[in-house]
Amino acid sequence: MGEIPESHPRYLSLKTREKISQAMKKGITHETGLIAHGRGEAFDYLIGEKTTSFADDAERTAAAALLIAENPVISINGNVVALAPEECISLADLIPAKLEVNLFHRTDVRVDKIVKELKNNGAKEVYGKTADASIPDLDHDRGLCDREGIFSADVVLVPLEDGDRCQSLRNMGKTVIAIDLNPISRTARTANITIVDNVTRAIPNIEKWVKKLKNKEEKELKEMVRSWDNEKMLEETLSFISKRLNSLF
Ligand code: ATP
Repeated sequence: MGEIPESHPRYLSLKTREKISQAMKKGITHETGLIAHGRGEAFDYLIGEKTTSFADDAERTAAAALLIAENPVISINGNVVALAPEECISLADLIPAKLEVNLFHRTDVRVDKIVKELKNNGAKEVYGKTADASIPDLDHDRGLCDREGIFSADVVLVPLEDGDRCQSLRNMGKTVIAIDLNPISRTARTANITIVDNVTRAIPNIEKWVKKLKNKEEKELKEMVRSWDNEKMLEETLSFISKRLNSLF
């Protein structure tokens, strides 16, 4: 693909596709990650490719949950590292939280490549290679994780997760924060806090909220998380999409 002119009306979207495509060629993103990206783009179109007020609320609540967590972990897959590596590292440093590579289509080679990519972008420690534990009820490779990372985490941020693993993490008693542009996916409906936003906007916005909330009392942060109504937010997001679509004609 030739250089995309900045004046192109779909510049950002095309650049993002280019990043995913390059990461696939490097063996970082699985080929099915391209399909998942396409599904995400379609939903991003429906919300207007901007952070909605509902997503902003979820991002604030996610920041609160991450700040009060004892062992928070940010789960990284091939799409996330292709789209927002520096943003994830910066957020992890600030909270602080651990970074763990956790893949649906897991191979040691791909885990290694993603760990290296994160380290090249400045990550000091990346979990996921040891894979000395597994998430119960998931078939072998998808469930592999690190005992010191996701397995023992109390709060897990899972950008672009699949519904089964999200449910299994919840069954383990963890608080799951999902970033998923599809408000009707199983993941979106299963997570404790669902952020219906593009991962490229969501991660920096969670970081913005972490900075704002960092000095708040723990009691206040706990109350924000306790009072979060995920189902209501999903209903409001769907209603926002349907009103937006009606208003276009
Ligand atoms: P589920 O199992 O939860 O029903 P699924 O089968 O659609 O979901 P995947 O195929 O793993 O799950 O797709 C990942 C999800 O990630 C999709 O719902 C897609 O909308 C979302 N997604 C893709 N790209 C992005 C992105 N850049 N930011 C946020 N979400 C995204």
